[in-house]
Amino acid sequence: MKKVYMVDLKSNSKHTNKLNKLKNLFNKVNYGDLINEGDLTAIKIHFGEVGKDTFIRPIFTKPIVDLIKQAGGIPFLTDTSVLYSGPRKIGPTHIEVAHSHGFVPIVTGAPVIIADGINGKDYCDITINKKHFEKCHIASGIVNADKMVVLTHFKGHEMAGFGGSIKNLAMGCAPPIGKAEQHSTKQTVNPKKCIGCMECFNNCAHDAIEMIDGKALINQDICVGCGECMTVCKYDAIFLDWETELSGFNERLSEYAYASVKDKEVLYINFVLDITPNCDCVSWSSETLVPDIGILASTDPVAIDKASLDLANAAYNGLNDVFKSVHPNTFGEVQINYGEEIGLGSADYELIKI
Ligand code: SF4
Ligand code: SF4
Repeated sequence: MKKVYMVDLKSNSKHTNKLNKLKNLFNKVNYGDLINEGDLTAIKIHFGEVGKDTFIRPIFTKPIVDLIKQAGGIPFLTDTSVLYSGPRKIGPTHIEVAHSHGFVPIVTGAPVIIADGINGKDYCDITINKKHFEKCHIASGIVNADKMVVLTHFKGHEMAGFGGSIKNLAMGCAPPIGKAEQHSTKQTVNPKKCIGCMECFNNCAHDAIEMIDGKALINQDICVGCGECMTVCKYDAIFLDWETELSGFNERLSEYAYASVKDKEVLYINFVLDITPNCDCVSWSSETLVPDIGILASTDPVAIDKASLDLANAAYNGLNDVFKSVHPNTFGEVQINYGEEIGLGSADYELIKI
């Protein structure tokens, strides 16, 4: 049975110092003992889309940064380039967003480094030989890190049902090409936005794109869904069919999560706070679904997500899936069940309140 430690905001004093409790969580799992002198230690986090305000607060990273340094590690805050348009699509402007949201060394104690480089193309292929993927594309800054602490804002997600540690690993550690692989195999060109620049045509390694009457057209029989065309299109003319295969989507998430932590010792911390219906990639913050619950820590991504989900459902009404109340067609539980099936972790957990 996997241990999941928890700072319970209900049973603790209302004067709970969350920064000190974060240190307690880190020490409870003895993560400092795993860090060797000079270990490059990635702190995987989502810096929040522009307009969002319920991402993990920057000051919550400081105790973790301090403890990693005390253990001899060299911490850095990191995320990867996104698939869609906006400043988080490439490294330099993604860092600017992080800084503008308060993730600056004077607050956090560590620099921001985008794990897949300046343009989302720095990645390694990790062999996993699972049902959906033989290999996954994982950002170099994640693969090359010696250790990793995954800080996750636990909340709803419009496709995944919920977004916890598994999703933070899966999408969060993948470059755009890996994100596209997880989303769907169907890439489509919007002819109204296509200006015929041929950038996608020149970059498709599978010759799946034709130029017809000055517009790109993707042959769905040839396309392998790698997402490279979407990454190189500067005009946002290529998009995914978001509605297809949501169950398979969650399985693909679990496989990518497996790849991103393969052969790595990882600490997971879920902030079950500000539980909004949507993820931190949207440019707004909705009303929360349930009151703040607590902060959880574990060395198992499946156990911590299962515990977080159970706590959120119990706070909702104990009977229904809180996230299906807002995203009824999603299958969040697949992340956990399939994650357990492929050896990502265990859903059998013991919750220990501190
Ligand atoms: S890269 Fe975008 S704009 Fe250029 S041809 Fe392809 S779809 Fe059209
Ligand atoms: S997703 Fe990959 S294979 Fe499909 S059209 Fe785009 S670049 Fe080509």
